[in-house]
Amino acid sequence: MNKILVLEANPKTVEALIKLRKEGFETAFRNETVDKVDLKQYRDFDILSVFVFSRVDRQVIESLPNLRLIVTRSSGFDHIDVQAAGERGILVSNVPSYGSMPVAEHVFALLLAVMRKIVKADSIVRSSKWFSPELQGRLISGKTFGVIGTGAIGERVARIAKAFGAEVIAYDTFKKVALEAEGVLKYVTFEEVLEKSDIISLHVPLTKETYLMINSDSIARMKNGAILINTSRGQIVDQEALVEALKTGKLSGAGLDVFEKEPPDPDDPLLKLENVVLTPHVAWNTVEAEDYILQSTMDAIRAFANGKPINVVNLKELGKHPLAPTISFN
Ligand code: NAD
Repeated sequence: MNKILVLEANPKTVEALIKLRKEGFETAFRNETVDKVDLKQYRDFDILSVFVFSRVDRQVIESLPNLRLIVTRSSGFDHIDVQAAGERGILVSNVPSYGSMPVAEHVFALLLAVMRKIVKADSIVRSSKWFSPELQGRLISGKTFGVIGTGAIGERVARIAKAFGAEVIAYDTFKKVALEAEGVLKYVTFEEVLEKSDIISLHVPLTKETYLMINSDSIARMKNGAILINTSRGQIVDQEALVEALKTGKLSGAGLDVFEKEPPDPDDPLLKLENVVLTPHVAWNTVEAEDYILQSTMDAIRAFANGKPINVVNLKELGKHPLAPTISFN
């Protein structure tokens, strides 16, 4: 019998995944991240389901000797040590494609909030003030919009930016030529995106190459008064350099859903700045996306139990592990 430990389990997660009990799976639910859970109780569990706030590092993996599958209810999987999992023949699977629409729409929620000063405008009306020249905003239309990473989310963002009337330029190590042919965007170098964009939106995964990709040097290359939107991962941006640029006005604003440390410390200087709009890693979080994620998670668990795993992201790390050839992948 497969035993599933489900962490960061809110009531909706429990309501969905508990259905697996009828199919012969044993399930344990905890509404906490992995660091808060005593894993000794779960040493015989073979499946671990997490969301992005659980860091599944080598130590966690070693604490679960029977583990065979880690399934994250997210598309990003940088919170999981895929190398350590692969070395033990443990599969890691994600939800590859739920995220593009909710995250892309959230990019524009953040961007419009920054450009039209929505947070301040709301507080002005609530405090019974009205005349407020400081609320004058700026248009997206007519601006140069830089997209870094044109995967599922970046492509959607580029299309929406284009519909707003922006000129879209983009950088990605993998070019989608059809997007250029369709006239949605033009690929340029990373440096050109920095130098030409009025607005830059980040959509690369967190990897060794993208870690601190936006640092004091890259910010120095940006246009004075540019706006940065990050819904990708906090560690892609050097947060100290960002705060400095927002204080000096080098950057006029930022919209951030992700942070170097989540949640940020209460004394984080970012929290004191008025020209930023911050959300707590919720760009993905729509009713529609959560339903899709839970369905996809159950599909991945069933597929694994049937010996035909899906959405496996650590094939390279599994390499020639003796357990790997016994598995047939879809
Ligand atoms: P994706 O895999 O479809 O696209 C990523 C793109 O980045 C690819 O086109 C890839 O070629 C490009 N890329 C990778 N490394 C690069 C590099 N060094 N330089 C330039 N381009 C590079 O991923 P996606 O679904 O578009 O998601 C992007 C990221 O968004 C995820 O990795 C995740 O971290 C983040 N995300 C955040 C939320 C949220 O709620 N805030 C939700 C979903 C995803």
